Amino acid sequence: MLSKIQFRPRPLSTPAAAPAPAPKATSKPRVDTFSAAPTGRAPNSALRGLAKDNLFEPTLAKPALGAAPKLKFDGLEQLNPRRAAVDKALSTGGPVPFTNTDGKTEQVSVDRIATPLLGGAIYSVTVGDDTFSVSIAKDANVDHQAVLAQIIDAYSETPEDLRGALESVSVRGEKGPDGAAATAGDGHITFYDNAANVTADIFHHEMGHLIGRQVENANDSVLSGIIEKLKGEPPPIPDGWAEAAAADGNHLNDYTEGSFEKSGNYTEDFAEAWSEYMRALDGGPIALAAFEALYPGRSEVLKDLYPPA
Ligand SMILES: [Zn+2]
Repeated sequence: MLSKIQFRPRPLSTPAAAPAPAPKATSKPRVDTFSAAPTGRAPNSALRGLAKDNLFEPTLAKPALGAAPKLKFDGLEQLNPRRAAVDKALSTGGPVPFTNTDGKTEQVSVDRIATPLLGGAIYSVTVGDDTFSVSIAKDANVDHQAVLAQIIDAYSETPEDLRGALESVSVRGEKGPDGAAATAGDGHITFYDNAANVTADIFHHEMGHLIGRQVENANDSVLSGIIEKLKGEPPPIPDGWAEAAAADGNHLNDYTEGSFEKSGNYTEDFAEAWSEYMRALDGGPIALAAFEALYPGRSEVLKDLYPPA
């Protein structure tokens, strides 16, 4: 069903009534990675523009500290063992062992399932027991195996019981709407601008949107599920998230603050917190303790979703 793969990004939700605004933290280590301006307003119109609609994400320029390495296309990618695993999975049908950047090994299969008439390729990717598709557009000037390796690496960090939130990924060549790096909704993540934004941090942020929706739906009763069908879905965040964020009394960064002020909801706050939490888990006990100290209320919700080892 090729037509189903041609996704358009969609808004995650309609703006909801505003909860009590949370004041901005007065001091905050830059544990996040979004390129919000150091003070004041966002530096580009894309970042400001996104706040009007959950669909839009900021253009991101990442500091490298502790982040998964960005894709490079200098030929050295051939030496990347994760890319090599993808190569082997494609040539053998898999499954093959894939050791992610955390040192955790998963069994991975990758099959090229279609070459659309318009060009590009569609892959079926299985990591452990979970399968999703990756569509790479014809005009996306990317090393397919390297992009697949990067997506699989980030996906494999997601706890298994939350992986079902992702059904498909597409990688497109063009710039995102209003300069968006990526968008997420309805089980789908779209990365724009070739592979420039296919990083672990952005993957986790977008995955946070999908997980937020999955958890929000799981929290529904039969009745509230029916009501939401009629009245529209609430923001894709877990029960108690808005209260936890308000109790923490801060925003994660200028991006989430701007989004909250515009939309009145904590959609971006949750996605960004999820991504930061994933980084904190990667960073070890000190990084995790720093995260918990800054965001004690949010941490309780996140630890429920994904208990630290
Ligand atoms: Zn977002």
